[in-house]
Amino acid sequence: MSGDVVVIGAGLSGLVAARELERAGRSVTVLEAADRIGGKVLTRDVDGHHVDYGAHWVGGDQTAVLDLADELGIATAPEPRRRRGADELFAAAGRVHRYHGQVPPIPAREWLPVGLGIAGLDVAVRRSRSTPVPVLDAWRPGEHDMSNAIGDRLFRSAYGRDILTCFYRLIFGADPDEVPARAALEYLRAAGSLRAIAEVRDGAQERYFVGGAGALVAAVAQQLSSEPRLRTPVTAVRADGSGVDVVTEDGTLRASAVVIAVPLPRAADIDGALPAGAGDRMRNSRMGEYAKTIVVYDEPWWREDGLTGTVLDVDGPVQMVVDGNPGADDPGVLVAFSGGRAASDLFSRSDRRETVVAELVRLFGAHAASPHLVDDITWSEQPWLGGAPTAIPPYGGIFEAADLTTGRVHWAGTDLADRWPGYLDGAVRSGRRAAREIIRPVR
Ligand SMILES: Cc1cc2nc3c(=O)[nH]c(=O)nc-3n(C[C@H](O)[C@H](O)[C@H](O)COP(=O)(O)OP(=O)(O)OC[C@H]3O[C@@H](n4cnc5c(N)ncnc54)[C@H](O)[C@@H]3O)c2cc1C
Repeated sequence: MSGDVVVIGAGLSGLVAARELERAGRSVTVLEAADRIGGKVLTRDVDGHHVDYGAHWVGGDQTAVLDLADELGIATAPEPRRRRGADELFAAAGRVHRYHGQVPPIPAREWLPVGLGIAGLDVAVRRSRSTPVPVLDAWRPGEHDMSNAIGDRLFRSAYGRDILTCFYRLIFGADPDEVPARAALEYLRAAGSLRAIAEVRDGAQERYFVGGAGALVAAVAQQLSSEPRLRTPVTAVRADGSGVDVVTEDGTLRASAVVIAVPLPRAADIDGALPAGAGDRMRNSRMGEYAKTIVVYDEPWWREDGLTGTVLDVDGPVQMVVDGNPGADDPGVLVAFSGGRAASDLFSRSDRRETVVAELVRLFGAHAASPHLVDDITWSEQPWLGGAPTAIPPYGGIFEAADLTTGRVHWAGTDLADRWPGYLDGAVRSGRRAAREIIRPVR
């Protein structure tokens, strides 16, 4: 036996599961397919500063990940959008607006349709799991409604539907017609509310990791008694009455239990991992499409202009821009996010970096024209991940951990979290839950 428990995947959820198991006295081997740990967490050094190419923020009520960070001495700081006095930008319908406060300056004629759309979506999210109350329900989607039905039914203006598309690209890494409506509502509900997922104050973007999110992953890994084995993809899992064989290209490990902590669509590639009947549905799930472009200037000139660096961009190749080095005076780093079709369109272009810089010039002005470095990442090209930030299930394909767990085969991974799926917090919760199942099996 190579380890009492084998954990497959050294993303945050797998590392947390391994740490909890070791703390309970179990011996653990972590197998990771890629040549690094962290999965969708990737912090790189850019001109001597930490820049997050993957996960970036942590929210005030994301208590699982915040508690873990506290325990490990990993510092977080308030997102600088809250910096007093500074303005943000909002780009929509071909115009760039400068504003201050919580609500972007949408035209007066759009207040009602956009306001009703957001209120209707909020009701649909809150009621996604409750008993239908026809008089009160604005709308309850059917199994085959795609999320463009959310736009068609709830957002009655083209302007409102463009805002919805921008929101979807940022949250799901997908366009509204690519996500089953029920799955979308369930995902939003698990975050608590629309507000919680979208906002900075009291929302998912409230704080950032001072040393990058990679510091948290490294701190968890450092507590393990042995390092994860890199470049060791697991190809099959075979459980029998006395244990589990975990098959890799380098050989087979025998364990008493296994935790599978890989993105759900990737789990379909591990032979024998899924219970009978789940494989087809899982093969039809996919990851979202998400890209970040990192644009580095000698100085953060936007701060001199009284700007936070944050932009919500409804009609460009990027949907959001943020200050990627908020804790320091130089260099100036703008990070541009693209999701869904905007990300795939952008990355199909050979001049994609010039395209993003041109968009920054449209948003901020001529200052933005002369970065000294541009780098980018598209997560669909990351082997073993295939996209980000979350798995998009097919119709009827919302999986819960209990649907997949069989005897000695346990499941972690943010996609299977009961709260904050798709987020770091969900990764921590799912890792802890999988470890608990093994430490204290339910009889
Ligand atoms: C650009 C971007 C921005 C994000 N922003 C935020 C944010 O601001 N806040 C937030 O909370 N979250 C954010 N997220 C999401 C967050 O990063 C993820 O929810 C979290 O990191 C998922 O952790 P995980 O352990 O569930 O999975 P993963 O990180 O996907 O880890 C899975 C691991 O399994 C490995 N693996 C796959 N197949 C195999 C195999 N066959 N054998 C062995 N290993 C395998 C993979 O290589 C990977 O290391 C963002 C993600 C991205 C990409």
